[in-house]
Amino acid sequence: MAIDPTLAYDDDNIFAKILRGEIPNKTVYEDEWALAFHDINPQAPDHILVIPKGRYVSWDDFAVSASEAEIAGFVRAVGHVAREAGMVEPGYRLLANIGKDGHQEVPHLHVHIFAGKPLGPMLMRS
Ligand code: AMP
Repeated sequence: MAIDPTLAYDDDNIFAKILRGEIPNKTVYEDEWALAFHDINPQAPDHILVIPKGRYVSWDDFAVSASEAEIAGFVRAVGHVAREAGMVEPGYRLLANIGKDGHQEVPHLHVHIFAGKPLGPMLMRS
């Protein structure tokens, strides 16, 4: 079910639990600003999620409230993960779903990285 991105941050969301180590994940990369791990239900041969360490509901929340250091750290982490995975030359896709029409299901900002095959002009779930 899609979440309301205008609500306050919920510390019980599944990615908050992953950040606290309460739920296991297949970590790809971690630094001061971000954690990257494999999506549990991959929609492409390579499907990685990158989340900021901070408590941000969505891209909108992050863009408004995150510090310059958090924004820089997170954006660099996304690029680093894709580059280290060898995705730059073949190419990859970034996606951040926001709110109801974006079909955001987890109320902690996450960027999807899709790769591993030609992805076509657009990737959409019905
Ligand atoms: P979104 O629709 O953008 O909110 O995407 C949420 C993503 O989180 C989906 O692709 C799920 O497969 C993924 N997901 C949910 N729970 C977990 C989990 N415990 N570990 C890894 N990925 C998860």
